[in-house]
Amino acid sequence: MPQRKDGYKLIKMKEKTTNPGIIKVKNIKTTVKECSCGNWLNHWNNFNHKPSVFCSEIRCTQMFHLVGAHVQRIEDDENWYIIPLCSEHSKSKDELVINNFVKFIPANTKETCG
Ligand SMILES: [Zn+2]
Ligand SMILES: [Zn+2]
Repeated sequence: MPQRKDGYKLIKMKEKTTNPGIIKVKNIKTTVKECSCGNWLNHWNNFNHKPSVFCSEIRCTQMFHLVGAHVQRIEDDENWYIIPLCSEHSKSKDELVINNFVKFIPANTKETCG
């Protein structure tokens, strides 16, 4: 029933706006080659226009050993993104909670550096 579906979507959007600070992601296991930026952290830096300072995980203060990790947003989107994570979080199999000011840079090089 299409009406019900619309109603459901509205409720979902409301939930999102009441909780804007939280973005959940999971790591994607991938063997994608590095792009023309050299590595995926550079890729993120290039399109964020300022370099990463901390791991993107909301409570993590790791500043060193950051990598550009391939992640997927759990709630709203199937696309692959690059965000900076510390080496520990980039290997995590759990859902990660991400700071809402972190920019998600598409991993698809056709949209970015390709
Ligand atoms: Zn790139
Ligand atoms: Zn971390």
